[in-house]
Amino acid sequence: EPRVIPRDQHPISRQQVSRAALNVLYGLHKGGFEAYLVGGCLRDILCGREPKDFDVSTNATPEQVQRLFKRSRIIGRRFQIVHVRFGREVIEVSTFRAKASDDNQDRNKHHAHEETGMVLRDNTWGSIEEDALRRDFTINALYYNIADFSLHDFVGSMEDIDQETIRLIGDPEQRFREDPVRMLRAARFAAKLGFEIEKSTASRIPDMAELLLQVPSARLFDEVLKLFLSGHARASYEQLQELGLFRFLFPETQQALEGDQGKTWEAMLLAAMDNTDRRLLMDKPVTPAFIYAVLLWPVIQQRLTGYLSSGLPPAQALHKSATRALNLQIKHTAIPRRFSTVMREMWELQLRLDKRAGRRADAMMEHPRFRAAYDFLLLREQCGEIEPGLGDWWTRYQEEDESGRREMISELG
Ligand code: ATP
Ligand code: MG
Repeated sequence: EPRVIPRDQHPISRQQVSRAALNVLYGLHKGGFEAYLVGGCLRDILCGREPKDFDVSTNATPEQVQRLFKRSRIIGRRFQIVHVRFGREVIEVSTFRAKASDDNQDRNKHHAHEETGMVLRDNTWGSIEEDALRRDFTINALYYNIADFSLHDFVGSMEDIDQETIRLIGDPEQRFREDPVRMLRAARFAAKLGFEIEKSTASRIPDMAELLLQVPSARLFDEVLKLFLSGHARASYEQLQELGLFRFLFPETQQALEGDQGKTWEAMLLAAMDNTDRRLLMDKPVTPAFIYAVLLWPVIQQRLTGYLSSGLPPAQALHKSATRALNLQIKHTAIPRRFSTVMREMWELQLRLDKRAGRRADAMMEHPRFRAAYDFLLLREQCGEIEPGLGDWWTRYQEEDESGRREMISELG
């Protein structure tokens, strides 16, 4: 009963598929296996976007895939997939899988087996149809057959792409319970594609959002990066707020947003998100440290005044408040050390940017975090957290030549 759309009735062409992906598809096909492009790459092509990467689905087992391709590695212990490398590109090849592919059910299964001592087979292969049904959204469940270039649609994918609708496959409540990260994925695809989340899918989210608290913080960190560092940060933020998801990713930030200075903090967040989106549009580098530094700044500020009035010197008060904010946040989303170190430096520089006498301004500009700290300062002024002035001074200082700079320093008095 799948709908098979022949080559002349759909717009996917091999020209839109990378060399590497085609190599994998043809390799499998010549090896006597079924081979399909699947999921996000087809969705993106049909939406007129360039796919980020290509995923392949096959009836060959991981071992069989590995034997076909020299530069391939089996990844993952429980649900094995194969990474096949061609030049700099990596193609992910997964074997058709039966149900219970998701982490949560999988974890439960493991429990059951530990308790009963029964050894369950970890990889349960399935048919292409079962593989389609275990995917999250209808828009992510199309298959492109390399044997005859047809598209296979098992769940009404084409119609939902046409209608710009994000719809979970199966019962929304059950699918969200199996894997709460699907709620974030719904928000992300809505933001990225400008699609509408279908009513019975969307309406379950606010009630179930709390389930995010049970998701491992490392996985949530990865999802947050995809939400905020893929060129649609502002739209993602707005989706997360609308669906009631944000408070379970950044509870302390949400609290600050609901406080006296909430308007200011929200303006700062949105300005940072716009910045990030603009930088990506211009192919400029972005770092999670910057966006995380902005997300946690309101949390730091909330405690800072207390620490200061209890007599701690500013640098120490800031350090203490930063430690606390980081410790609270990593319970929800992990923050790898290489990022939290940078975040601390950006925050600490906020205290030092107005110390400019003598050669200190020049030394400051040599600091590896100067540029990020300066951008951060501009955001703080822009949203009205602090009086404007210092940011503008630094803008001019960077533009001046040596004698102009000396003059600016002497004018400081
Ligand atoms: P993008 O790569 O643009 O973020 P994508 O749809 O390719 O989007 P991936 O995370 O790369 O997303 O996942 C590849 C495919 O695996 C998806 O298209 C979907 O079919 C399936 N999938 C991914 N995550 C889940 C999940 N949590 N539950 C069910 N299916 C999933
Ligand atoms: Mg993908």
